Amino acid sequence: MQTTDVICASVVTIKEFIAMSEAAVKPLTEHSPEEIEKVQNWINTEEYKEQNFAREALVINPAHACQPLGAQMVAHGFEGALPFVHGSQGCASYFRSTFSRHFREPASATSDAMTEDGAVFGGQNNLFEGLENAYTVYKPKMIPVYTTCMPEVIGDDLNAYIKNAKQKDLIPEDLPTPYANTPSFKGSHIHGYDSMLLAILKDLTVGQKVEGKCTGKLNLIPGFDGNTGNLREYKKYLEAMDIPYTMLADITDVFDSVCDGTYRMYAGGTKLEDAADTINGKATISLMKHCSPHTMKWIDSEYSGSKDILPLPMGIRKTDDFLMKLSELFDKPIPAALKAERGRAVDAMTDAHQYIHGKKFAIAGDPDYLLGIVSFLLEMGAVPYHILCSRSTKKFQKELQALLDTSPLYGSQGKIYINKDLWHMRSLCMTDPVDGIIGDTHCKWVARDAKIPHFRIGFPIMDRVNIHRTPVIGYQGAINFLTVIVNKFLDTVDETCEDQWFEMMR
Ligand code: SF4
Repeated sequence: MQTTDVICASVVTIKEFIAMSEAAVKPLTEHSPEEIEKVQNWINTEEYKEQNFAREALVINPAHACQPLGAQMVAHGFEGALPFVHGSQGCASYFRSTFSRHFREPASATSDAMTEDGAVFGGQNNLFEGLENAYTVYKPKMIPVYTTCMPEVIGDDLNAYIKNAKQKDLIPEDLPTPYANTPSFKGSHIHGYDSMLLAILKDLTVGQKVEGKCTGKLNLIPGFDGNTGNLREYKKYLEAMDIPYTMLADITDVFDSVCDGTYRMYAGGTKLEDAADTINGKATISLMKHCSPHTMKWIDSEYSGSKDILPLPMGIRKTDDFLMKLSELFDKPIPAALKAERGRAVDAMTDAHQYIHGKKFAIAGDPDYLLGIVSFLLEMGAVPYHILCSRSTKKFQKELQALLDTSPLYGSQGKIYINKDLWHMRSLCMTDPVDGIIGDTHCKWVARDAKIPHFRIGFPIMDRVNIHRTPVIGYQGAINFLTVIVNKFLDTVDETCEDQWFEMMR
């Protein structure tokens, strides 16, 4: 009888269930529809914008991730490497899920899952157990270690802990175990990228420098770029010009891997012996200077060959500069195929120019991407209007301003906002409207409220598919990006125009 009662009690209609759910989430305070509408209107005003920009302590929807996520991107980019998070399991899940959602691929990484006792007594025991398990179970060729906030706050000594783990034979003495301190209360994912790349190169190149040796190769550092299509485009250029190269932290086959029924835990990545030999390279080029300042400083003092820092090659001019630099360094002509590709890009830009000329854009993202996007928009006669970087420096602001100043007509209208978030961006777009917003998935709320199109670029992009496979750098990238923007504007015209203006030709 009792059992029947329980069963009967659990069988409720959908209607009853919804009524129960609504009762369960009773709001703490009641607001009239008029009050809600008043506030909804008020947050779109200049008055609210001023208060929004006066806020200091709170960050809402920032356009950046934390340092260890950048470190993990680098760690994934080396052959047989198992990224290892020293810190909280929740943080590790955030990094892995962000990569998986963006690339739609597994992101194999492990964590020593520090909890309260680790926070009080230090995380050495967690690291010991984690390293031993990770090595025994997954047999990696390298374990790059990086930290979350918790061990950084308590000051865990990774250097000593890893040495101790090797002395205790928990992992082999000769297993490369580079580590980077990646405190998230300063910097962002690009700083974590820099720290981890530096740590890995320092570790792998120990004792590898040979006086007089030159590999004849280019070392290419692409920077924190969630677009595997961009990396493949660099390879295409280098192969077309017959330039031997080592791409450092190469995530192409890791996060853009084949689907053939076989799971490969360690697909792709820069070969460790190639990375070790980069110290004897003919030349090193870093393509996103804000992602590798410390790495390049160290490379400058330790590596053979020439060193150059170039901007992300977005648009015609910056792609020209990149290819001309390659040509100069390796004494190779620009192949006819690439010249033709350039010609097609210029043609595509000319054909589409009328639809984008004078359009105003809001842009949010990492420093190097912002420089690339602004440069591209200026080439198209568009106006980079609200430009926002949620974590950067006055130095970067000056650099971006100098780029805007090169275009008195279009660049002079742009305003730069550093260390502001996307809630600030919302205020900007509601009070001083633009025609579209360019940035990662986090920008979609601004686009929705401001009723403007959102052009997805950067990292992460979790709400659309395959964008990470479509290059936005180089000549082909210019065509791709331009096509997406212009066709969206044309779609909007078709969707919103009155019948008499619904034309075959646009
Ligand atoms: S900010 Fe700190 S606590 Fe948050 S995910 Fe990053 S490392 Fe973890």
